[in-house]
Amino acid sequence: MFILTPVSLRKCLPLVNWILRFQNSFWRSKDCCQVAPLQGWHKLQKFSPNKTVSCRQYSSRSQKENLDMSGFPVENIRNFSIIAHVDHGKSTLADRLLEITGAILKTECNKQVLDKLQVERERGITVKAQTASLFYPSGGRTYLLNLIDTPGHVDFSYEVSRSLSACQGVILVVDANEGIQAQTVANFFLAFEAQLSIIPVINKIDLKNADPERVEKQIEKMFDIPRDECIRISAKLGTNVEKVLQEVIARIPPPNMDRSDPLRALVFDSTFDQYRGVVANIALFGGEICKGQKIVSSHTTKSYEVNEVGILTPNEQPAEKLYAGQVGYLTAGMKEVQEAQIGDTLYLQKQPVEPLPGFKSVKPMVFAGMYPVDQSDYNNLKSAIEKLTLNDSSVTVHRDSSAAFGAGWRLGFLGLLHMEVFNQRLEQEYNASVILTSPTVPYKAVLSSAKLIKEYGREEVTIVNPAEFPDKSQVSQYLEPMVLGTLLTPAEHIGKIMTLCQDRRAIQKDMVYIDDQRVLLKYLFPLNEIVVDFYDSLKSLSSGYASFDYEDAGYQQADLIKMDILLNGRPIEELVTVLHRERAYFVGKAICERLRDSIPRQLFEIAIQAAVGSKIIARETVKAYRKNVLAKCYGGDITRKMKLLKRQAEGKKKMRKIGNVEVPKDAFINVLKRQPNK
Ligand code: GDP
Ligand code: MG
Repeated sequence: MFILTPVSLRKCLPLVNWILRFQNSFWRSKDCCQVAPLQGWHKLQKFSPNKTVSCRQYSSRSQKENLDMSGFPVENIRNFSIIAHVDHGKSTLADRLLEITGAILKTECNKQVLDKLQVERERGITVKAQTASLFYPSGGRTYLLNLIDTPGHVDFSYEVSRSLSACQGVILVVDANEGIQAQTVANFFLAFEAQLSIIPVINKIDLKNADPERVEKQIEKMFDIPRDECIRISAKLGTNVEKVLQEVIARIPPPNMDRSDPLRALVFDSTFDQYRGVVANIALFGGEICKGQKIVSSHTTKSYEVNEVGILTPNEQPAEKLYAGQVGYLTAGMKEVQEAQIGDTLYLQKQPVEPLPGFKSVKPMVFAGMYPVDQSDYNNLKSAIEKLTLNDSSVTVHRDSSAAFGAGWRLGFLGLLHMEVFNQRLEQEYNASVILTSPTVPYKAVLSSAKLIKEYGREEVTIVNPAEFPDKSQVSQYLEPMVLGTLLTPAEHIGKIMTLCQDRRAIQKDMVYIDDQRVLLKYLFPLNEIVVDFYDSLKSLSSGYASFDYEDAGYQQADLIKMDILLNGRPIEELVTVLHRERAYFVGKAICERLRDSIPRQLFEIAIQAAVGSKIIARETVKAYRKNVLAKCYGGDITRKMKLLKRQAEGKKKMRKIGNVEVPKDAFINVLKRQPNK
């Protein structure tokens, strides 16, 4: 046995010291995204354009010194995005590119470094596009490579299209095992329409089942890109990744812009910083920009003085100036994110220019009510939502109120994942707890009633709150939003998937075999039918192998109805649902059943009914109590009686009265949370 005496302890000290040091370095290495330490910075100051400078010297920068970016003329710049279906390895490839160029140290724990949000790390998805400027020496020059990692999920395709506007090329990553998926197709066409150079990269060739040959054939057939243009890599192991950088330089053209032109800076993203206000991500389409200059926003015509410019490496690194063709960030004391509208053009006050084309405005696809769990938290939640929308301008917010939940908001999201991510960020980043109502899609009604037309000031109205759905007698037609869905599936699941689509009122538009095993299907869906659980059903039907993406396809006339849920004859405002007539019975019945299970028995019978107009289409009953539980507590058992009375009183506090019926507050949440579907 080893006995610790002062002597043995002293003998052990070197060992203890060593263990402590080892532990320290271990924990330091656990700290993800290690930025390389500062080295040889002074050499940079005398940088000449065509001299190779070690990439380490650029990325290993001091936080205090400003970078001199003048040594990067457009011919040394490449701006590109990495696009792919979700999980095909965009963020992993970005990690390797950051490592090769010395932006981050090569350690075991550099995993998806650009996914900075907690929700991104937990879910393993990219939600927000991220920019990183890399310095890469090649052929006697140092290149400035501006890389944008993009999200792959359909809800965030707006982020992708925005990022592409700052690029001249893309790396299209395809998993060697899974092959082309729905978002690969969608993202390819975004890049193709923007006329960008496309470098196809086949990733995960280290996997046992990898079949790069098959994927190359698919790429050739679907996108008309010759097989020999594909690069086979393993982003995880780093195999062939250097080749990708070489091809980026060779195949992607430098930006075609000029420093001597007047300043034109495109705002392609923005974030909010508590202390500095809006941090706008900009791509310079002409001229140069530096601290102290007076700039104007084309969108708001407000003017600002530039406080700071810099590049992202991927952390912020201030620079003395940014020049045409470069991508970076800017702060100029903008207090609200609306002031740095995405797609806006910034120019010098003394040199006005025509704004760049910008982007089409983003359109929310689903709406939901959001309320504080406790009304006393209203102000805290309000400020949390405001702060979060500063960093996510694609969410629309309108004030709303409900008899059950009190004052709140109706929020518009790009899709269900977007809604979940927003909710999770509220909880994680702002410690807010909220009630989120069931999502609905924006329906439209063409009004026929002169009175209503006058009230709204127009004939066609969009309804995002089912409670405001106008009655059939005042409307000439209802319209519902449609989407064109792309599905990619192994051929063996095609029968089940077609049945699923038909059940969702979808119409087949196209069907192509992309090779002998995989089929691409196109369907026109009512958005309402895919919003809640379509994706889950598709995944379970196809054992996870089918993928789905959709794009907006306008509106179509539909036989819509408003369904009320009644409690002993009284309508419940928050359970009003708008849906297609065909689905009314099924959905009505499911809501009634769920409500029946959530309402406790009371002294009288409670009728729960689903009604369309005056017609009852479903009914459930909560039976009355037979006995009074307190009646048994006679005589001396006072403490038990007190306990029961206390519990009853506490229970009542959480109840809401509808007519004479007491409903627990979470009953609605239970019903609203999972929208019944087939
Ligand atoms: P993203 O959604 O496209 O950004 O994909 P990620 O970069 O987050 O990668 C998704 C998953 O694939 C992660 O678990 C990665 O570790 C894994 N992955 C990425 N590249 C490779 C590769 O080359 N080989 C293997 N075996 N796995 C990889
Ligand atoms: Mg990612």
